[in-house]
Amino acid sequence: MTQTVASIPLAVHESLKIQKRRIQNGSSKKRLSLVTGTHGDELEGQYLAYMVGSYIDEHIDRLDGIIDIYPALNHMGIDSITRGIPMFDLDMNRVFPGSRDGTMADVVCAAIVDDISGSDVCIDVHSSNIFLKEIPQIRMSVPTAPALLPYVKMMNVDFLWIHDAATLLESTLAHTLNSRGTKTLVVEMGVGMRITKEYCTQLFDGVLNLMKQLGMWKGETAPVREPVISEGREVGFVNSDAAGIFVPCANFGDIVKQGDHIGDVVDPLTSKDVENVFAVCDGMIFTLREYPVVYGGSLLARILQLAGGERI
Ligand SMILES: [Zn+2]
Repeated sequence: MTQTVASIPLAVHESLKIQKRRIQNGSSKKRLSLVTGTHGDELEGQYLAYMVGSYIDEHIDRLDGIIDIYPALNHMGIDSITRGIPMFDLDMNRVFPGSRDGTMADVVCAAIVDDISGSDVCIDVHSSNIFLKEIPQIRMSVPTAPALLPYVKMMNVDFLWIHDAATLLESTLAHTLNSRGTKTLVVEMGVGMRITKEYCTQLFDGVLNLMKQLGMWKGETAPVREPVISEGREVGFVNSDAAGIFVPCANFGDIVKQGDHIGDVVDPLTSKDVENVFAVCDGMIFTLREYPVVYGGSLLARILQLAGGERI
C-alpha cells in the first residue's frame, strides 16, 4: 500500500509528495523503516529498497510485522541529479527535525520525522558522493553507540565507524530520530550516482537478518559478517599533494602496510608521475577515490588500522 507522508503545494498547480510503501502481514506491530534518497545523487538505496520490497512481496507469508519503505525523501533531487533540494541549494540532511510551520523543507522534514517515529528500528541508507567509494559500513556518534551496537552486528556490514563530531550531525534525520527514541542506523556504501549490486545484496541479507532478530521474519536468512569497529583504532587519511589524474594500484578492501605504494597522480601533458602515493599507516583501505581528477588536498583513500594482524 502506497501512502503519502507529506504533500506540499508547488507553483503552477503541482505538488511535492513524499511517499512510502507499507508492507504488512500477521498480527505483530513490530515496525522496520527503510529510508533512503535524502541525497539525490546517492542511488544505492534505490536498488536495496526494490530488492527488499520485491522479496517480501514474494514471501509475504513469512512476514509478521510492518515494513515501511521510504525510497525517495528528496525525490526532486533524484529527478534532477542534485544532491540537495533543488532550487534551495539545501542539504536535506541538515534541516531535520524541521518544523510544522517553517519553510517548505522544514514542513517536509517534520512530517517525515513524525511518520518514522515509533518504528522499532530505522535504517537510513546513503551512498558516498561521486568522488569516493565506500565499503558497506554504519556510522554513528559516540553517545548513540551503546544503544545501537547490537543492531549494527545484525546488519552484515564490514565496518562500524563511531564519530566524535556529534555537533556536525545534530541536524540529521538519524540524530533527530535517535534523540526521540527511534533507533536509527546510518548505512554508507558504494559510490554516488551508481548502483553496486554486490553491496545491495550484502545489505539485503543484513536487513532480513535484522528482521529475523526483531521477530518479524520467519523465513531463511544468510549468515552475517562481524563488522570491524573503529573504536580504539586510528583512521589514516591519504590526501593528494599535487593536481593531476589519480590512478590507484591498490584495491578497495586491501590490507596494506605503512609505506606501501597505493597509486600515482599522473600528468597526461608531460607524461610524468607528479606524485607517488603511499599508505600512511598499516590497515585496510575502506575508502578509495573513484573519480580520477584530483587537486592538492583531495582525499584519495582512508585506511583503518587493524589490531594484531586482524583480517576481515
Ligand atoms: Zn547521503
